[in-house]
Amino acid sequence: MFQTTENKMIRSGLVEPDALLMGSLDAHLEWNKPCDNIFELEMLFNRLNINALIFSQPAEPYRSIIDYLAEASNGTITPNDCETRTFIHDLPVAFELSPDAVVPLLKKRKCVIVPGHGIITYGTVGLEQAYVTFSSVCFACFVKFFVDFLFLTRKRQADQKLGQVFVRVVQALDPPVSFNGSLTKGPFKSKKHIYEAIQEAGRLVVEHRLVDSYFGNISFSDGQTLYISQTGSSLDQLKDAIDPCPLNGSSCVPITASSELPTHLKIVQHAGSRAILHGHPKFSVILSMDCDLENCGCRDKCHVKCPHERFVRGIPIVSGEVGSGPSALCNTVPKAIGEHQGVIVYGHGVFTAGNTDFNRPFKHLIQIENDCRAEYFNRLRLYSK
Ligand SMILES: [Zn+2]
Ligand SMILES: [Zn+2]
Repeated sequence: MFQTTENKMIRSGLVEPDALLMGSLDAHLEWNKPCDNIFELEMLFNRLNINALIFSQPAEPYRSIIDYLAEASNGTITPNDCETRTFIHDLPVAFELSPDAVVPLLKKRKCVIVPGHGIITYGTVGLEQAYVTFSSVCFACFVKFFVDFLFLTRKRQADQKLGQVFVRVVQALDPPVSFNGSLTKGPFKSKKHIYEAIQEAGRLVVEHRLVDSYFGNISFSDGQTLYISQTGSSLDQLKDAIDPCPLNGSSCVPITASSELPTHLKIVQHAGSRAILHGHPKFSVILSMDCDLENCGCRDKCHVKCPHERFVRGIPIVSGEVGSGPSALCNTVPKAIGEHQGVIVYGHGVFTAGNTDFNRPFKHLIQIENDCRAEYFNRLRLYSK
């Protein structure tokens, strides 16, 4: 029961094997290993309506980042990226590890951060939920830390302590993404080949850490049908999680299809693309929140919300609000993608597309992320001059 979640969390670099504590309540409460704090943690099951709990120090560099943000906070960390804003709101901090300190916070939010101890998340229908929240907390804090550091460096407000943490964090970063292989080449002759190609691309996007937990989506269109990953599915587990949706927009679209189906459909219509990838690579998200326009008009707020279409190394950055207005994702991305290698959605992620198979979109997803990472450190040098 614990093994699947544990494997996922270790593979995605979220935790070290020994740090991870998981509890699950079915007929009775079980833990994946013994722990000193078991009594306090069992109290959480008594006082909250939950059936799963994860408590762990995150792995580096998340650990340094999260401890720094939590200690510098007044009890709440407020990330600005879109995944967090829509999914977990803000992140409460408890300054001691006791049921009295954490229970009231967990009643309002899906997680609590205890600096020096780790992150507590829970599920009401199983461990998977606790894992998804844990992953989102790490993602949100990572993005916030890098966005804030760039912003404060530009404003000459990054103090020495922050500078020291930053150096430590950079030393613990994954190396830039690299991939020299090749994905299955199109054109695909049958539905079976399409499903296999989608699964292969999804697995590679996750393996290369270009998306976290159950975010991101992927589709392929054969001219009549758009095959798309299901909402809430993990891109590395799409075996039974791909939905066929008619391209002509008729009503028999399964309700399980990705919530970003309208965006995929419009990319197919506008750009004629067949293979579409959407991930949440971190430096692309981070850099989208650093506005380099001289006269943007909202200079001090651009890391929270910038209204202008910008470019980073030739890739457009567009807004992508939830819903169906003019600045909604499904209206901005398909228009912008055109001949570009991809589109970065402000504070959210990246879309890439290709015509025959997933080789082009996958390579461009990596390239955009690596370009954004290089550009981040360029700007840092520039701003600190
Ligand atoms: Zn997304
Ligand atoms: Zn701006």
